[in-house]
Parts: sequence; structure tokens; C-alpha cells
Amino acid sequence: MKRRPFIKKLIQSTGGIYLASQSSLLYGSNFGTKTKGLGIALVGLGGYAGGQLAPALLETEHCYLASIVTGTKEKESVWAKKYNIKKENIYNYDNFDAIANNNDIDIVYVVLPNSMHAEFTIRAAKAGKHVICEKPMATSVEDCKKMIAACKDAGKMLSIGYRLHFDPFHDEIMRIGQNKVYGEMNVASEFSFMLKDPKRWRTQKDLAGGGPLMDLGIYALQGSIYSFGELPTSLWAKNTTIDTSFFKDIEGSLEWELTFPSGKSYCKTSYEKPIYAELKHNTEKGEVKLENAFYYGGLKGSTPDGKMEIKPVNQQAQQMDAFALNIIENTPSIVPGEMGLRDNYLIEKIYESADDNSKIIQLNDIPNILDIRRIK
Ligand code: NAD
Repeated sequence: MKRRPFIKKLIQSTGGIYLASQSSLLYGSNFGTKTKGLGIALVGLGGYAGGQLAPALLETEHCYLASIVTGTKEKESVWAKKYNIKKENIYNYDNFDAIANNNDIDIVYVVLPNSMHAEFTIRAAKAGKHVICEKPMATSVEDCKKMIAACKDAGKMLSIGYRLHFDPFHDEIMRIGQNKVYGEMNVASEFSFMLKDPKRWRTQKDLAGGGPLMDLGIYALQGSIYSFGELPTSLWAKNTTIDTSFFKDIEGSLEWELTFPSGKSYCKTSYEKPIYAELKHNTEKGEVKLENAFYYGGLKGSTPDGKMEIKPVNQQAQQMDAFALNIIENTPSIVPGEMGLRDNYLIEKIYESADDNSKIIQLNDIPNILDIRRIK
């Protein structure tokens, strides 16, 4: 899946002369000193940025961590030291817009609580930067549309942090499902973990936008769509919250069913169960299964023919490198803003059905976007 680095093509075709003289145009003025590829600014230095994205940026070939944006003063020096960040590349949420004048930054990666995604994506686009925005793209379809428009107006690319489109286990699931390798199928998927902490933004509706559906269920939703390689035509959903006294503003647990042109998918998500992640195809010839399906690593796959023998990758490094190459080579992202909008549309419909006695909702106006690698 990894494409040959653009830079290698340049070296071969020009004997390196073009590379030496034009590298600053391609890669920014710091190329050759501390950097490799496009500069990324991480906005929000929480668990995901610190635990996964920053370490992955030490492995990427086409982008690197150039800048940090944080509201916590103490994090500045810790991160600057750990990742060798220049003082002038450290911003806070108030002076963030000054990144417009910083040529080290090509891409802004928004890793904030969900309700802040729209504001920072729009501000990044207005500052003339390409954007990766974490999932869920926003807390409403309306915000997704504004984010897409802002990036379009600025002539900048927007992609969503859908890392699993860059994982080879999921690539195999897409191949098997979309080609009906084991015949007709239905899908079953679940992503759950335990979270009952009122202090965490994930359980606060104004910051999270919703409950586990926004945070975890979105993976089951995505997995269903790329398993079939089709858009769902209708759905129904049921709120299955156990602790209704804790989970009042957001759901604690939710189940839903999607109908696709060639089968059905039954999905579950919860903040009230031990951690569990699975994506399964029940096919005519037996079960195709991904265990630990939505984790960063430790995925295991099996088919009616036996174990999937697949070498794991760093999902985040693959994802960020792919976006950097999209920018460098001017090719479309396989996980664009429009895909995030599609998923926020589905999330809204799932809540609508759950709130209305599991009413069946027709999805006639679903945004028509699929992973463009396989879908004709
Ligand atoms: P986190 O709570 O660990 O970090 C959130 C960061 O936002 C913190 O640094 C916090 O200081 C900052 N912040 C700024 N304003 C805040 C406010 N008003 N309230 C709370 N925090 C505030 O969260 P996280 O797990 O890093 O998640 C951040 C985003 O990344 C979310 O949108 C989440 O869905 C997404 N995420 C994606 C993946 C993935 O696999 N793609 C994994 C984890 C998280």
C-alpha cells in the first residue's frame, strides 16, 4: 500500500540536482536540517496526540512534528524537549491564528474534544493550512458542511483521522467483503469500553456531542460500510443504556441495524461494558472475523480458510504519510471531509431513530462517498 516516496522519483529523474535546489519549495525551508517532509502542527496534546500521533510522527517519511498548540503551559517545555520543537513553533488556542505566518507548518492536525473540531478546522483553513481532523468530524452535519466549505474556499485539503483505512487487516476485510470472496454475507460489529467518569469530556454532551456512538460506534459504522463497499439505504436504532441515572444527556449503550443493497449490518456500542472490539462477516461459507478490530495494534483476523497472515503497521504513521503524499502529489485523500460528513449524517439518523421508538429511517439523501480505492 505504501507508495514509493515521491522524493525518490525526483532523485532518479533528475540526478538529485532538482532535489537540492527545489527542496524548500517542496518541503519547506527547513528541509535538510531537522525535518523530513511536510510540517504538522498538533492541536490538543491529550491522550491520542501524546500516546499515538507524536510517536508515529517519528516514524513517518513524508511529514514530521513541526509545531504544537496547547492550552496547558506546562506541556510546552516537556513537548519541546521531547520532540525538538522550536520555541517559535509553539502556540496556544488564542494566538493559534498566527500560524498563518509560519512556513514550517503545512498541516494542522486537530485532536481536541469533538465540539471544538469545527472551530479549529475552520481557523486552520483560514490560516492557509491543510487539515487533518479527528473523528467524529464534528458534532453536527451543519458544522461538517462549514468545515468543508472553509477548506474549499482556502484551496486546502481536509481529511479525517480514519486510521483504519490504512491498516492492512482492514484492507483485507474490504477486499473480502467487497468481492464477496466467501459469498453473500451479513456484518456484525461492536466497539465498547467502560467509561463512567463525569469529569471526562467524553461524558459531557456539550463537548462530546453524544455518547459512545460518536466516539466508538463510528468505527462499527465505518467497518460496515467498507465491508460492503456500499452505502446503507435504511436504518433503525435502539437506546440500550443500562445505567439511565448516570447516562442522562448522552447514551450509555446503543444498538442499530443498517440495511445495505446486498446485506445487513448489526452494530453495538457502549460505555458500560468491558473493552471489546469486533468486526465480523457472517458469510455463506463461514465466518470472517477481526478481533481487537479497532485497536491501534494486536489485531487478529480469521476466515473460513484459516488465520490471516498479515504484518501489522503503525496505523497513524501510514495515515499521516498518506495525507502528506496527497498534498505533495496533489491526489485526493481516501478519507476526505465528505466521508466525515457522511458519517455525521448517519450518526444523526441513528439518534433520530433511537429517540423515535426505533423508527425505520430511509437514507435517500445520504452523502454519496465511499473509500475510492475499490468502489467503481
Ligand atoms: P484527551 O482528553 O486525552 O485530550 C484532549 C485534549 O484537548 C487535552 O490536551 C485537553 O487539554 C484539550 N482540551 C482543550 N480544551 C478542552 C476542553 N474544553 N475540555 C477538555 N479538554 C480540552 O482526548 P483524546 O482521547 O486525545 O481525544 C481527542 C480527539 O481525538 C477526540 O476527537 C477523539 O475522538 C479523537 N481520538 C481519535 C482516536 C483515533 O483512534 N483516531 C483515538 C483517540 C481519540
